[in-house]
Amino acid sequence: MNLNSIAQQFSDPNAAREFLESQRWPEGAICPFCGLIGAAYKLRAKPTSKTPVRPGVWKCSNCRKQFTVTVVTIFEDSHIPLNTWLMAIHLLCSSKKGMSAHQLHRMLGVTYKSAWFMVHRIRYAMRQSDLFAKLGGTVEIDETYIGGKQRRKGQPGRIDKSAGVAPFSGKQAVVSLVQRDGSVQSHHVQRVTAANLKPIIEATIHPDAHIMTDTGTVLKSALMGRKHHQVDHFRDEFVRYENGLTITTNTVEGFFALLKRGINGVYHHVGQQHLHRYLSEFDFRYNTRRITDGERTTKLIRQVHGKRLMYKQVRFSG
Ligand SMILES: [Zn+2]
Repeated sequence: MNLNSIAQQFSDPNAAREFLESQRWPEGAICPFCGLIGAAYKLRAKPTSKTPVRPGVWKCSNCRKQFTVTVVTIFEDSHIPLNTWLMAIHLLCSSKKGMSAHQLHRMLGVTYKSAWFMVHRIRYAMRQSDLFAKLGGTVEIDETYIGGKQRRKGQPGRIDKSAGVAPFSGKQAVVSLVQRDGSVQSHHVQRVTAANLKPIIEATIHPDAHIMTDTGTVLKSALMGRKHHQVDHFRDEFVRYENGLTITTNTVEGFFALLKRGINGVYHHVGQQHLHRYLSEFDFRYNTRRITDGERTTKLIRQVHGKRLMYKQVRFSG
């Protein structure tokens, strides 16, 4: 699957809807009201009826309710044609550094406002399920600061991590936890403090995991007796080999480099109320980095279920 094949195969909303049905319902239509699988039938107009039936409407033989494949998804109530949605999903899934609503607006010929809602809904679908497997093995944790005003002249370049706060006005703290050769989970936190990090570590990292940080971390008291090694960045140490262990935070820093190139280069300014959605986007692409762009697109299309984002949940601020 690539943009060209999406444009050809799904040249109209009906073809796109049938594709969505095949992806979301491989074992038959799922009724969003009672949950029954394969018990619904497609509504067709009676030969005697003069009024046509809207295409894509199913009726559940159990609860008798009618629905379409877009009910309770990010596509629900959207006036944007489904084939345009599929292209937007593919563009966001296949661009390493993401894609701005402005670019999507120009490429797809939808209004800027529509493009803005689309990218936010797509990011919402990209967020990790609450049922994720905990990170194990070796897990690197680090923090970084994103956005906000430039440093004033004369201010020191180094961020004082021991203060536990972002020292520059408007900068937002992001903490990422990366399993080496595995997945990342990023969190926007108000302040990088042990108290804020403790519940994140509890919920995200397996108790047997080996945690690696740099020495500037506030994490120590949040780690609660877990296996922990530190690399000493203040002494320009980036990798240390000790008893067969590779002690480094290079993996999480590599992820931050990608995140910053994306947010600074593509998005320029990210409102702090939206930052967690951008993090979902970068986490999603990182966590699916070993599959093709087409497979990533299909994976996302399968997980739009139950992820409806109301307009009131994302206030337009383009
Ligand atoms: Zn039903």
